[in-house]
Order: sequence, then structure tokens, then C-alpha cells
Amino acid sequence: MQRLHLQGGFGEKGRTSVLIDDGESRVMLDAGIKVGAAPKDYHPQLACAASEIDALFITHAHEDHIGALCWLIGQGFTGPVFMTPTTRAEMNATLDQYAHVSDLARFPSSNAMIELFLPGDTLSFAKQKIKTGHTGHVAGGVWFSVESGGKRTLYCGDVVPESAVFPMTAMPECDMMLLDCSYGDDAIPASERAKQIVEWVLARPEGAVLPTPLSGRSLELLAILPGPLAIADVMYEPLKAQIADPSLLRPGAAERITARLDTAHRWHPGSPLPACPLLVHDGMGSAGPATLALEMAEQKGHPVLLSGHLPEGSPAHRMREQGRADWFRLPTHPTLPQNKLLWENSGRPRLLGHSSEAKLLNAMQQALPALVTTAVTGDSIEI
Ligand SMILES: [Zn+2]
Repeated sequence: MQRLHLQGGFGEKGRTSVLIDDGESRVMLDAGIKVGAAPKDYHPQLACAASEIDALFITHAHEDHIGALCWLIGQGFTGPVFMTPTTRAEMNATLDQYAHVSDLARFPSSNAMIELFLPGDTLSFAKQKIKTGHTGHVAGGVWFSVESGGKRTLYCGDVVPESAVFPMTAMPECDMMLLDCSYGDDAIPASERAKQIVEWVLARPEGAVLPTPLSGRSLELLAILPGPLAIADVMYEPLKAQIADPSLLRPGAAERITARLDTAHRWHPGSPLPACPLLVHDGMGSAGPATLALEMAEQKGHPVLLSGHLPEGSPAHRMREQGRADWFRLPTHPTLPQNKLLWENSGRPRLLGHSSEAKLLNAMQQALPALVTTAVTGDSIEI
């Protein structure tokens, strides 16, 4: 038997976290924060005292999966933290921007006992066995399949089955699947989305600001955008680091993206906005050079194209609401047909959706009849 505690990201997007208790040990998968949330909902809702959690496994370094690490240490967590070398390399940039300043100062990530592994490795903790694989979402991102108590729970984290840049490993059969439902019933394939973005960019020769997360989507944009291109100067080294290991990318992607990166104009915050597409992180205008670039674009009426999740309260969300920015999704999560295939390939298991509100989950249920749409953060489920 396994007991699953939904600690964040269920019935909501953000602060993704699950605790799996096999009766002997408790392993926690991800420790995210929720951008724009009220203080009480910013961090995961822990099912037990942090000191009683035995180990933490991190899927990738986006803020909604790792942003609560310092906070968790501050709450008394002292166990090992398992992550890939790429996630570790990106971790501090995320924590610097999304951890509370006091947590960051008093409980830095250097206090964490970090254990490194590679995508594809099988890990074990106490009697729980954890399989891992590439997700297609970011370099070095992983899914986790936890086998313990005679049951198997597959936590997808964030996955992209058909990324142009990142590979995804097939996932094993399981009894319970926690699926990435960020996009609800969206069925438009990535190729069509990419075409919309390229056409939008080509129609704006005066240039445009494109906010994007530092990892994952930035590389996808570099792979599809035509013509001259600019990036915020501080993005260059982190983006190079993401393509340093070609085994974390699809064949040929590293060469293609290197050529784009090395010829890109480097924009220094404060200098005029360039007359070409400018990539700036983060994707929401909440942190990084995107904050200033969006302010400048707004003052000048310069075009802005958003392409990801826009939490309420973020500058990007406000600009879109006010008609000052356009939005085309560049998929970095599964479409409904892709999720259906993932579920079928895992043996049509019991199913919960993470990173999605109930309304979107309800829209998916016809295609995914096993999907429980009422589970919310704070619930516990026995399997
Ligand atoms: Zn992510």
C-alpha cells in the first residue's frame, strides 16, 4: 500500500508537491512555490512535520517544482535531496528569484544534502524504488515512478512528448498516474503553435519582447525563431550550459541552437530595445531582465509576445488583460491527445491531474475517463 499526500499543484497551478508514504518511509516529490499566491498558499501544504519527511526528489529547476527548497529546510527538513546535475546547476538562479529573502539568507541551498543522479537512473530510498527518465520539458528534467508497498505511482512532473529540442523516455506501467494537465483539453500540436509564433514575429520588423523561462522554453524559441535575434546578456551562459551535454538533447539540437545563440545580439538591460525579437527571462515578467524589458516595451508601445503560463498578479498577466501584449502558447506541456497516449501506454491506470484547475480537468474527462477531477491540494489518497 502507498499513501499519497497531495501537497501542492492539485486543483491549482503552482507549488507542485506530492508525498508518498509506504508505511516505512516518506519521500517527497518536488517542492514548488506558486507565483502570485497569497502567503498561506505560496508554499506546499505539508502533510506532516518537515522533519518527518525522509527524502526529497526534484524533477527540474522551475520555480513551481523547486522554489520552496529553502523554505522546506527552514521548516526542519534535513534529508537528502535528489536531483540531476543540470537541475543543481540551475537551482540557485531559481531560488534567488523566488525563495523568500529571509529563507534564502538563513537556509541557503548549500545547507541541503544534495545527491546527484542522471535521467534514466533507478534510485532507492529505504524500501521505495524510484525509476527516472527524460521528460522532454527541460534539459536534465525527469519523471519519477515510485514503487513501494506493492504499488507503483508515476509522477510525470512536467513533460513534453514531442519537443523539437529535448528527448522524452517512455514511462512504465503503473497503478496511479499523476499527469501534467497544465493545458487541459488543448489539442493543437506544437508544429501549428510554432507556425503562429513565427508568423507573428515576421509581421513585426520593429522587433518585439518575448518573455520566457530561462530553462526549457528559451531553447524551444531559439530553435524555431527565424532571422536576427537578441537575448538578454545574462541568459547567454545559462543557455550555453543547458546545451553543453548533447546526451540531454535530441540529435542535432545542440548544433542548431549553438549557432543561433552565438550569433544572437546580446541586450544589456537599460540599453534600447533591439529591432528584432528579444528573449528575456522570466516568462511572467515577475523576475529577471523581463521585468525591465516589459516596462520599456509598455512605455514605448513596443510589441510583446507572451507564450507561457501567466499567473494572476504577474506583470505579463496584467499586460495581456489590458491588451498590451499578445499571447500564443508555445507548448511546453502535453496536449490532450498526447496525455491520452501517455495514459494508455502506462496501462490505463488510476489518474490524477496536476498543475490544473478543476475546470480544465473537467474538459479532459471525456478523453481520459479515469481522471479524478475533484482532487485538491491537501487531499490524501490510498492506493
Ligand atoms: Zn516546468
